[in-house]
Amino acid sequence: MGKEIKNISIVGTGYLGKQIIEKSLLYNYSVKAFDIDRKDLDEFTDKMKKKIEDEGLKSNISQYYTIKEVVQDADLVIEAIPEKLELKREIFPKIDEAAPPNAIIATNSSSIPVSKIEDVVKRKDKLLNIHFYDLFTLPLADIMRGTQTSEETFKAGKRWLESIEIIPLEVKKECYGFVLNRIWRAIKKDCLKIWAGDYADFETVDKAWTTFCQFFIKNEFGPFQWMDRIGLDVVYDIEMSYFKNSGNLDDKPPDALKELVEKGNKGVKTGKGFYNYNSK
Ligand code: NAD
Repeated sequence: MGKEIKNISIVGTGYLGKQIIEKSLLYNYSVKAFDIDRKDLDEFTDKMKKKIEDEGLKSNISQYYTIKEVVQDADLVIEAIPEKLELKREIFPKIDEAAPPNAIIATNSSSIPVSKIEDVVKRKDKLLNIHFYDLFTLPLADIMRGTQTSEETFKAGKRWLESIEIIPLEVKKECYGFVLNRIWRAIKKDCLKIWAGDYADFETVDKAWTTFCQFFIKNEFGPFQWMDRIGLDVVYDIEMSYFKNSGNLDDKPPDALKELVEKGNKGVKTGKGFYNYNSK
């Protein structure tokens, strides 16, 4: 269990809130839950108590009907209400007002950087984006700071994620789409264009993608390892070809890639690219 975080409060117990609760209970955290849908909250809490006890664990969960009560002992509050900025900006000051001064407040938003909420909150150093995926099938979460989030808050958030066996994807500075959502967005965007432009059937795209992923998994490659193998000079030329074809600045490869190539760091073939191969 993360040292400083013991009590978790979840505000919004819909699809994601429920998963965060279950995962926290499975790792012995004490959880308080709140949702405006009282009936669903009560039913879910009863179901969860039984499920956790069936696992032979103590079901340390209780439901509350006001923000004030649900956050009063919290070390970490996670907001998982609908993806509407105005709703989140309405609820954050209420949480801020009622939670203990040291509590961290995180939003599970899929797209809204917490910096867009921080002006309505006093504890600006204790805010985080913690963006979960599907907690039981994809154990990853993007973790991102607001403009004034302290290092202590960030580290505590990371430790808590690790304590429930979720891999934190650290976002170094504010990035729309965080890490994984942004990668996924790039893939999705061109898949849709290939399909809508009638360049290939969606089944063909899916076949290409699943076969490609199997190859990546088998070889334990990430995109950067794969680029190192292709050769960064080759990758640069390919990207330039796309850029020359479209004329769109968005397609221009980053100067940082050009600099690597000019330094002679072309990947596996030169012993160094993004990764260093000389030490192996
Ligand atoms: P959901 O609609 O399933 O759940 C939202 C819950 O919030 C509902 O139970 C609703 O009754 C409750 N709610 C609404 N207003 C409230 C209020 N004022 N106070 C308390 N509870 C309130 O939505 P979800 O899919 O769980 O998404 C919640 C958040 O998590 C969103 O910001 C979403 O972008 C993000 N998210 C969703 C997913 C996903 O796969 N669904 C993944 C990552 C992040």
